[in-house]
Amino acid sequence: MRYIGVDLGGTGIKAGVVDERGEILSKGSARTGQERPYQAVIADIAALCERVARDANTPLGDIKAVGVGVPGIFDPKTGRIPFCANLGWHDVPFVSEMQKRLPLPVFVGNDATVAGYAESIAGVSAGTASSVFITLGTGVGGGIVVGGKPYSGAHGVGSEIGHMILSMGGEPCNCGNRGCFERYASATAVIREARKAVAAHPESMMLARCGGDPARMNAKIAFDCAKEGDAAALEVFNGYVSALAHGIVSIINLFDPEVIVLGGGVSMAGAFLLDAVREAVKPLVLFKDMGCARIELARLGADAGLIGAALLGKE
Ligand SMILES: [Zn+2]
Repeated sequence: MRYIGVDLGGTGIKAGVVDERGEILSKGSARTGQERPYQAVIADIAALCERVARDANTPLGDIKAVGVGVPGIFDPKTGRIPFCANLGWHDVPFVSEMQKRLPLPVFVGNDATVAGYAESIAGVSAGTASSVFITLGTGVGGGIVVGGKPYSGAHGVGSEIGHMILSMGGEPCNCGNRGCFERYASATAVIREARKAVAAHPESMMLARCGGDPARMNAKIAFDCAKEGDAAALEVFNGYVSALAHGIVSIINLFDPEVIVLGGGVSMAGAFLLDAVREAVKPLVLFKDMGCARIELARLGADAGLIGAALLGKE
């Protein structure tokens, strides 16, 4: 059986035909043009779906469903997207607008949730029934898989791992609360701490690497310098790892999943980050004599969203 997956982002739309094992058979992309009315964006999504089906020599009649990953939340009871900040969408009747243009069942999920689902079928957590995926990017997203199925909660607002509160009264978050996990575990947090570090330690290698301009700081610069032994950068890196490990331990205590998968831009730091996180988690685990989640890096990269969205139609 074949499925179409769509990864809808603030700047680009990716779509592809995917088989039931998560193999991509064709792929295409388009500009989102999110400044336009939502109807125009949805018309382009539908047209892109038809194009990738043609490219995979698959008549629409042989496609079981279309799945769409969105950078927001979805209400499965109404088929509407109540809110999607990156697209500026409020209460968009997404499923009915799609079905006006495509004669196929439409499934929708949060982008991090579907990426985690993809990893659990075709990626690093393949074959496991329970996993938690954490995207470490500008913010922090989460994807929970329980019993082999993506879990978004009773109201479609679950798995917002980035907004678990790690520090009461801590750093202010875009969501209005303070001390959210993503204020400490995102690339944004690394940049904030690295800028503080170069203000206090202008001799740090980090300042030279951003051409003397802290406005050009990024997480890669900070972690690369840490890897090379720069003291200020190591402090930033260790603080980051500690925050991430505390969040991961809370997730383990709540869900006890088989695997925790780290994805997103920050996870590109690879084994340097992974090894440090594994070490930092060990002493924090509650039941030390029992087994606990293995921590792994995501494997599917930029295609995870598309693959996971497609597989939403697998039920
Ligand atoms: Zn928050």
